[in-house]
Amino acid sequence: MSIDEAALSAAIDRAGAVLTVDLGAIVRNWRALGERLKPGASCAAVVKADAYGLGMADVAPALAAAGCRRFFVAQLDEGIALRGLLPAAEIAVLGGVLPGTVGEFRAHRLAPVLNDLGQLESWRIGGGGEPAILHVDTGMSRLGLSPGELATLAGERHRLDGVRLAAVMSHLACADEENALNREQLERFRRALAALPPAPASFANSAGIFLGPEFHFDIARPGIALYGGNPLPGHPNPMLQVVRLQGKILQVREIDRGETVGYGATHTATRPTRIATVGVGYADGWLRALGNRGGAVVAGRQVPLVGRVSMDLITLDVTGIEPALARPGSFVDLLGDGRTVDEVAAEAGTIAYEILTSLGHRYHRVHLAAPAPG
Ligand SMILES: *Cc1c(COP(=O)(O)O)cnc(C)c1O
Repeated sequence: MSIDEAALSAAIDRAGAVLTVDLGAIVRNWRALGERLKPGASCAAVVKADAYGLGMADVAPALAAAGCRRFFVAQLDEGIALRGLLPAAEIAVLGGVLPGTVGEFRAHRLAPVLNDLGQLESWRIGGGGEPAILHVDTGMSRLGLSPGELATLAGERHRLDGVRLAAVMSHLACADEENALNREQLERFRRALAALPPAPASFANSAGIFLGPEFHFDIARPGIALYGGNPLPGHPNPMLQVVRLQGKILQVREIDRGETVGYGATHTATRPTRIATVGVGYADGWLRALGNRGGAVVAGRQVPLVGRVSMDLITLDVTGIEPALARPGSFVDLLGDGRTVDEVAAEAGTIAYEILTSLGHRYHRVHLAAPAPG
């Protein structure tokens, strides 16, 4: 064993769970999305919220090494952290430029996403011709210029004097479903582009890419699909799985028929049962909504989670599993082959985004390196 291997093995011995992130799979997902785009369109990467919980410090450099040049984050501090990792990348901050922050954007060469006319004005005065992205709202009512503001801007183009538009963008509300709003937003976005000076256009998130080439424009902004989430709910997932979460069995016990498991005694054994207690809980993002739902893969077999999720623990019914394969120190698969992020999300009544961004900070994290480009 090398020193590195010994250190890794000691860290795994200490951890209640091990989260493995396959950077090679993220890179291949990014390439696959890029290959789907119409000719001339380019694929950016959304790495907000610590790359959807998977570790921006590892994910962003891997994507940059594979050729990704443009990144989106949500917050200014995320942009500053990313600038420290990627000196040459184009980095845009979706949250916009708030009062008092123009100087920070300039100092770190970050492109703000300008979400209203006030932001546009403060950037025009203080941004000094550095690139910015203009966001028009076409149906989210969340961020971006309102239709009224767009009309004002179309009539008063001088408001853009000296502003370097790296892109004009909008965001789809229902890209992951068949919904008339998709086409409606597409038409509104086209009208907005026609009313503004020429600039590269950015519209599609992960699911938007699958709506077809009309939705691609110049720059796509996928997030969840990079990280293995299914951009096409209800259809087979075209993306490679990226995460594996292995929880460690801490203790195994036999209980009799009639005994209960966990807080609130919400599970009662209907037969003699073997319970394995695993060192993962809601403090690790294993959502409490998973109590008495879902489960794990143990020695290749699905077993149910019984009882409530505790802060640091879950309990599995491993009655049918060979005892030698489910004993203290053994690992069970909570996410991975046989338990995808989307499946676990469905069990918890949520979406893959929330499962990933909730992944805990106590996990021992292993990033599998992407193969060298070439
Ligand atoms: C988060 C976000 C994305 C990425 O969306 P996915 O559904 O994860 O692909 C793209 N654009 C904007 C404006 C976002 O906020």
